Amino acid sequence: MELMPVRSTSLETLAVAAGRPARTPGAPLNAPMTMASALVPGGDSEYARHGNPTWTAFEEAVGALEGGHAVAFASGMAATVAVLEMLPVGAKVVAASGSYYGTTAELTRRARRGLLELQLVDVTDTDAVIAASEDAALLWLESPTNPELQVADIKTIAPAVTARGTALAVDNTLATPLRQRPLDLGADFVIHSASKLLSGHSDVVLGVVVTHEDRALRALTSRRSGLGAIPGALETFLALRGLRTLHVRLDRSEQTARELVSRLHQASGVVDVRYPGFGSMISFEIAAGPAAAQSMTESSEVIAYATSLGGVESTWERRRRHPGEPADVPESLIRLSVGLENVEDLWDDLDRALDSVRELQRSSG
Ligand SMILES: *Cc1c(COP(=O)(O)O)cnc(C)c1O
Repeated sequence: MELMPVRSTSLETLAVAAGRPARTPGAPLNAPMTMASALVPGGDSEYARHGNPTWTAFEEAVGALEGGHAVAFASGMAATVAVLEMLPVGAKVVAASGSYYGTTAELTRRARRGLLELQLVDVTDTDAVIAASEDAALLWLESPTNPELQVADIKTIAPAVTARGTALAVDNTLATPLRQRPLDLGADFVIHSASKLLSGHSDVVLGVVVTHEDRALRALTSRRSGLGAIPGALETFLALRGLRTLHVRLDRSEQTARELVSRLHQASGVVDVRYPGFGSMISFEIAAGPAAAQSMTESSEVIAYATSLGGVESTWERRRRHPGEPADVPESLIRLSVGLENVEDLWDDLDRALDSVRELQRSSG
């Protein structure tokens, strides 16, 4: 499928227009969903495990937003594993200790099997990150981290580690390319769980890796064919449709998140409000403890009690209810993903949920 070039460098315009097919009279304006295993020989791909025009459209749009070439995978975890698969056996990997629990679990499993040597670091300690990476093949950063929302100083870390030959991968799921473009800052790989903000409607599981190096691009594409963890045509179609409104969704939920953060700071019973200063994610703790935090999240009406994040609907949960969540995440930490509902409705719901906790404490105390 021939694609229409986009002249603009504005991220808003790229979000809307990148990946659109060349204009052919009578053909769809946007990339249609291609349901095919076999394709007519002579094009980019003959068999749909190696390529599908619907993936290409999505990859073109994400690549344009991140400033590199994107390769889509069946999930964020499949994208993560594809990057790890490129490492030589026994390579040293330094990773953010507060990373997504699935990432840490996979790194730990690989370390236990002798596939890599793992060192975990606090991403907020820039000097420690740089020092630990000295003899590493790969530095894996996640910023902000999920769910503790720690921020890494990628601008300082990237040149220091890549100058010594360490590859830098950044999980950019929570920031999105609209708030942080790691490749511009010197990273080699950007990873997304496109299940989250990029697709934005809680109806897709999908991942993507973005790089500007041709060799890495070929290796990732060949790893995808070999591992077979390929995205679906429906998933890439839906994710691209969601991506078209990313900037509008993010601007609005960020505006709402800022307001909720300032009110949470004043709210009694709420401690340690964490917000990186941008984006749609907030984490905070409930002074009354984990049982109160749990019952509070289950009592809301506008905010859905659910896992995952980055959808049009606000969701929250106590992260430690998942047995796999690392023990350094506080037991009473609630992660709130701010969606697109009315800010006063969200606050009323949150405040009511907080009241129910205060009520509980009064009756038991
Ligand atoms: C959800 C998530 C992942 C994993 O992505 P899946 O699409 O669920 O496989 C990786 N990193 C971060 C930061 C996430 O939030």
